[in-house]
Amino acid sequence: MPLESMIEEFLMERGALAVGIATLETLAGGPPSADITYRMEGARSAVSFALPLDRDKIRAFLAKEDRLGHEEDNIRTNLRSKELSWELAEMLKKEGFQAKGTAANLKYRRDSEDWQLELHPDISHRYIAVRSGVGSYGWSGNVGLEGHGTAVILGTAVTDADLEPTEPIPRGKGFCDNCKLCYKSCALGMFDNKRETSVTLGGVTFSHAARRNLLLCDFTCGGFNGLARSGKWSTWSPGRFAVPDPEDHDNLLKEFFRAVDSYHRRPPIPGGFMHTALEGYRQYLTCGNCQLICWGNREDTRENVRILHGSGCIIQDADGELRALPPEEAEAAFNAMEPERRALYC
Ligand code: SF4
Ligand code: SF4
Repeated sequence: MPLESMIEEFLMERGALAVGIATLETLAGGPPSADITYRMEGARSAVSFALPLDRDKIRAFLAKEDRLGHEEDNIRTNLRSKELSWELAEMLKKEGFQAKGTAANLKYRRDSEDWQLELHPDISHRYIAVRSGVGSYGWSGNVGLEGHGTAVILGTAVTDADLEPTEPIPRGKGFCDNCKLCYKSCALGMFDNKRETSVTLGGVTFSHAARRNLLLCDFTCGGFNGLARSGKWSTWSPGRFAVPDPEDHDNLLKEFFRAVDSYHRRPPIPGGFMHTALEGYRQYLTCGNCQLICWGNREDTRENVRILHGSGCIIQDADGELRALPPEEAEAAFNAMEPERRALYC
């Protein structure tokens, strides 16, 4: 059996939804995170795969009924992705090749002074997934699969084996129908609803929404802010910052650091995990909405956004408990807090 078929069978038997292969040639000319030799000197190929997230847990998360269930599933699936990439690397070593697994998340390049804000990964699972045809870009910039959407976790293993690359999904043939519901699920509109950006990998160009300012995602997905621009719903974060113009980067950065400081003084909540980029920063999953709402068909995706937009706004009680209230009640509860407590959230 050809090695490529063995790899595919190995991963599919262990729960992968799709498997693809990219090589030095098919990733040539890409951004630094497309360089697979950064992960392993001598790497010539990268194997990409995707694992599903639990949809019931996503629905309960979006509805603000249960945060922990999805957080645990998300962490478990990320760890499974890492394990599976290492298992594949072991299999390839037994076949006589050098190979390495990769972390699914939270592994960053530390080459630049601002690495803690830029958060460039050691290797981009997304570049490898889109170039190898495991999935394609959705408007949000998340990678998704037909029938699954973007509610998946990607994984990658690298090897010095010269594998046959697989073809990318042709433009317009992927799962994304440009419904832009992902745009409506982002509390601060981190990405644009009209402008595109693109990346070229091995001579093939891939596009998705342009980023207004990546700091907006750090602000929200990081858990510091939760209230949507409309004031009508929030993520699981109780933060209620009036976030400045994304084009005014310096001011946004100033507000971001102020929010980080307030965040560290909030009462702790169950769950979470230590983030590798900031010392002492315990992150709780409070967003990820643009990825979680898209299930690969318009009906389910629309329902997910309806649930999210009707889920209310989070308020944190003095004992740390998070409560979802209708927007007007949440605002009244927030205004009724003593000034010192209110300052933790705005
Ligand atoms: S929500 Fe719609 S526009 Fe966004 S990635 Fe999914 S299908 Fe594409
Ligand atoms: S993870 Fe959350 S904050 Fe970041 S882009 Fe997606 S929806 Fe917006």
